[in-house]
Amino acid sequence: MIKELSELGKYRRKQQDENEWVHDALKSEPISIELIIDKNGSFQRFEPIEKKQTISEAITAKKGKARLLLDKAEEVLCYGGEDSKKKHMLFVQKLDEYRHLSELYPVMAFYKDSKTNGMEKALKQFEATFPEERNRKGNIGFRIQTEGYRIHEKPAVLKEVIKKYEAFQAQLLAGKPKKCAICGQNKHPVEDIPHGMIKKVPGGQARDRALVSYNETAFESYDLKGNANSSICTNCARTYVEGLNWLLSTGNESIIKTNKGKKKPVFRYTNRKNFGSDTAIVFWTRHNAELPEIDYLEAPNPDDVARLIESVASGTKRDSHYLDSDQFYSFTLSGSVARIVVRDWIETSLYDFRRSIAQWFKDIAIAEYDRDLKKLKMHYARLYDLARSCQRKNSDGSFDKEDTSLARVAAYLWRAALKNTALPLWMLTRVLQRARLDKYGVTADRAALIKLILNRNIKGGGFVITEKIEQGNRPVAYICGQIFAKLESIQYATLRDLNAGIRERYFTYTMTSPSSAFGRLFDLNSKHFTKLKNDRPGLAVTLDKELQELCKDIDINKLPATFSLEQKGQFAIGYYHQKQAQFSGAKSRENKGEE
Ligand SMILES: [Zn+2]
Repeated sequence: MIKELSELGKYRRKQQDENEWVHDALKSEPISIELIIDKNGSFQRFEPIEKKQTISEAITAKKGKARLLLDKAEEVLCYGGEDSKKKHMLFVQKLDEYRHLSELYPVMAFYKDSKTNGMEKALKQFEATFPEERNRKGNIGFRIQTEGYRIHEKPAVLKEVIKKYEAFQAQLLAGKPKKCAICGQNKHPVEDIPHGMIKKVPGGQARDRALVSYNETAFESYDLKGNANSSICTNCARTYVEGLNWLLSTGNESIIKTNKGKKKPVFRYTNRKNFGSDTAIVFWTRHNAELPEIDYLEAPNPDDVARLIESVASGTKRDSHYLDSDQFYSFTLSGSVARIVVRDWIETSLYDFRRSIAQWFKDIAIAEYDRDLKKLKMHYARLYDLARSCQRKNSDGSFDKEDTSLARVAAYLWRAALKNTALPLWMLTRVLQRARLDKYGVTADRAALIKLILNRNIKGGGFVITEKIEQGNRPVAYICGQIFAKLESIQYATLRDLNAGIRERYFTYTMTSPSSAFGRLFDLNSKHFTKLKNDRPGLAVTLDKELQELCKDIDINKLPATFSLEQKGQFAIGYYHQKQAQFSGAKSRENKGEE
């Protein structure tokens, strides 16, 4: 995993403009104040600039180190009393190491020969220039008043930083040519220093965190064991951090129109998805291939999905460019207090990736009655909506944000979509629970999820659920679900009251104790039927015939006392399929004037 992140970082470096300074010794840092001096080191003025990035020396840990020519007021001006003295001393010591560079002469004078007109004067004017404390906190960089470059950005200075860095690396290498566990080489030393920080990690407190750190074992269970993290060379340490930071932050801003017609900018990540509040997924391919299939998971369009399934099934030329060596990677991570928890790591060829996603859509496809089109159509749920269909709700119908299982369910679904894996059965328990307790019951999303879980957990010759209603040989529990839906529709036709549904009162009961529940349900039904026969005899006969038709397939007096978890799922699907079929059936009856 670290290896692939590091490869990505190296690939990104290669893609960058040759004129850009890209080296382990250098790093992009923010700057918000320019300290203007003249050639003799005399202080001229401070110039506040809108915070921007600048290239400067890279230091991995701030403690006990100062950055060359670019740092905070404590370091640069010894601002802030006693505490800043040591920081300032380190800053001046660092300058001393570079005093042979003529570019630095004015700065050396600022601190030494012209100190009164230089540093002392600057310190006196610092607070006056920045009356508000928050404006005194950014990085300060030097500039000669007649020049356009800041001193720390001058090529001679940056080259010297690189030279010193490489000399130091060579020195480290000389004693112990340890091989790096990531790149397998010993060109760069393996050092016990903290790696760079990962930014924009979800969850926990909003601050930067390390992926690999020496006193934590965040990913012991993955591809690194124990102390193996200390065998990452400095170059790989830099590149994996750059790679991961790029994945977590890259994206585009686009302008969307709000409901009120206002335009507002929205940032969309290109290689990241957020699951719940504490989990994110990043994904990429080695050669940066475009991945429309990922967009399908998020917003499936039936035509695109049909084309995908078709092209995978026939193995046509559209599919063939995925036969090359490109690999797909995905990394699921959560932030905890000070570290990153690796939740999942997926690696697959693009060929298998595409086949898995096609299979995913086949497994979640479910027919749904479309009220506008007045017919059954194929429903492909968004991956995140499937996860949501398991999420707890508050009494007002909104999603319960405390239900942290959302991210967990979504991460499992993501893996199932990309690797064609089975889902754990606790997820079936959860979705059935939501189907029982939620007022919308067995929605199309829930039915799709139940179908997916059941079909992927079948062991040897079990019942495979299809998109719409089954004919012929069906399991008892499935038929029970159909009968339940039929009884519900007879009740509704009789009482014409949506609030008096039998689902609220009997769905859970029937699912858990079918034999006793159906006894009660048929008693209730004979009352409804008597009434319906008086009010609307034609409809009563039709519905009863349909009910008898279903009951023919099972022995209603020999129903099991309980249903297993799998049977509960089949019951819910039978119920869902029957209802969708009835919606379209009711429509055609209406058209024929039977209503
Ligand atoms: Zn390495």
